[in-house]
Amino acid sequence: MKKTVIYIRQSLEKDKQKYSLEVQKSTCLTTAKRNNWMVDSIYNEGFLSARKTPLYDRPWLKRLLEDVKAGMIARIIVYKRDRLARNVEQYLEIIQILQDHQVQLCFSADNEPPLFHGPVGELVETLLAGLAQHEAENIVKRLITSRKDLVLKGKRAGGKPPFGYQVNKGDLSIDEEHKAIIRRIYQIVIDFKGFTLKDLNNEIKNDPLLCEYDLNAKSVIPRELHIGRLVQNFEGERYEYPGVLEDLKVVNEEEWTEANRKLTVLLPKYKEKREKYNALLKGRVHCWKCTERVKAGTSLYSCPKKHIKVDMKSMDDEVISAALIQLEKILVLDKEIQTNIRNFLSEKHSRPERRNLSDLESAVEKTKKDIKDLLSICVSHGVREKELSDLVYSYKEQIGRINRSKRKLFLIEEKMNMLKFDEIVNWIKEGKSETLTPFLLKMIKSVILQPDGIDVIYSEFFKGEVLLEKYK
Ligand SMILES: [Zn+2]
Repeated sequence: MKKTVIYIRQSLEKDKQKYSLEVQKSTCLTTAKRNNWMVDSIYNEGFLSARKTPLYDRPWLKRLLEDVKAGMIARIIVYKRDRLARNVEQYLEIIQILQDHQVQLCFSADNEPPLFHGPVGELVETLLAGLAQHEAENIVKRLITSRKDLVLKGKRAGGKPPFGYQVNKGDLSIDEEHKAIIRRIYQIVIDFKGFTLKDLNNEIKNDPLLCEYDLNAKSVIPRELHIGRLVQNFEGERYEYPGVLEDLKVVNEEEWTEANRKLTVLLPKYKEKREKYNALLKGRVHCWKCTERVKAGTSLYSCPKKHIKVDMKSMDDEVISAALIQLEKILVLDKEIQTNIRNFLSEKHSRPERRNLSDLESAVEKTKKDIKDLLSICVSHGVREKELSDLVYSYKEQIGRINRSKRKLFLIEEKMNMLKFDEIVNWIKEGKSETLTPFLLKMIKSVILQPDGIDVIYSEFFKGEVLLEKYK
C-alpha cells in the first residue's frame, strides 16, 4: 500500500510564525483528515533555507524523493509550493519527478491554488513557483486584484463617481432625474449645429432643464457608464465589468457614439505646423571671428554677435556634398572605414526590427502578468480553464513571434555585415538617402563659417590624414 506523507520545512531567515513547522504540520494534517487520508509519516526538514541549499542538500527532501522513485508514495501534502523549492528550476525538477511516479501533490495553505496539469500546467506552475520569489510583489498584486475583483463583480472600486451617479458600498445607482439631465445633454450635443465647444457649452448652460447645474459637455459626456459599461483603470491597466449594467444606462449605443464623435470634432486642435526645415548641423557651426556657436533660426544660421549669417539649407547641402567627396576619398584607403559603414548600416536597418522586438518582449511580459493575475482570481473564484488557456495560447504565440523577430534581426545584421565593397560604393553613388545623409553628418565634427566660404572639420576617424600618412 502506497503512503500518504507530509513534508515540512522552515527556513532560517524570515518565515516567522505564519510558516512555523507547527502551522505547516497542523494544516497538512487537517487536509489529510478532511480527505480521509491516513498520514504514514512526516518528513521534517526543520530549519533550512531552500534558496541557499542545492536540491539534495536537504536530507529529508532527498529521502522523500528516493521513496518516490522507489514507488512507495501515493501523495505528498505540503503547506505551499515554496516549501518544496524557492526557485523555479528546482520546483519544476521536483514536479517532474512526482509526475513520473504518479505522485499526487496537495497544498494545505488556504489560498494556494491546486497543482495544474495538462497543456497549461507547466507554464502556470512555473509562474506560480516564480511567485514565491516575489512575496512583496504578490501582496501589491493581491491589492490590485481585490479592486479588480470588485470591478469584475460590477462594483465601483474607489474614486468619485461620475456626475449624477451615487455610490453605496461599491454599488452604483442613478435616479430618473439625473438620467433625464444627462440624456438632455446628449440630445443637445447630437443636435448641435455650431462649430465651437464654447457655443455648445453656452447652449447647455442656457437650457431650461440644465441652467441650475454648472455643467459642460466634456465633463459629462465621455463616460462609458452611460451605456452601462463599468470600466476602471488601476496602475495604468484597464479593467472592465464583462456585462452591461442595465440600471445605470442613460443612452443607447448609437447616441453615445454619435455624441462622442461630435465632441471629438469640436475639441480644440493644435494648429497644423508648417513644414519646417530642420537644421542638419545645429550645434556644430561656429563663427570664424568670435568662434561662438551660431544660432539656427528658421532659415538662417547666424552668429549671436552678428558677424555672419548664411542660408541654412544651402549651407547644409554644401557641407553634405563636401563630406561625400571626403568619404569617397578615404573609402578606398582603409578597411576600417568600410567596417564602420557596415556597422552603421546594420544599426540603421535593424532599428525598426529591434524596436518591434522590444515591443514584443514587453507584450509577452504583460501576458505573463495577466496570467498571474488571472491565477490570483482562480484562487478565490475557481479556475477559468477557457480564459487561462487563451492566455497561455497567446503567450506561446508571442514567444513564437519573438523568435521570428530575432531571426529576422539576425538576417538583417548578417546581410549588412557581409556588404561587399562594390555595394558600399553603390550606396555612396546613389547620393542622398535616408542612411547616407546621417552617415555623412556623423563624419562632421564642426563647421566654421567664413566670409568667403566654409571650413569643414571631420571627426578624427574620417579625417583621412592618418590614413593618407600610412599610404605615402
Ligand atoms: Zn561671431
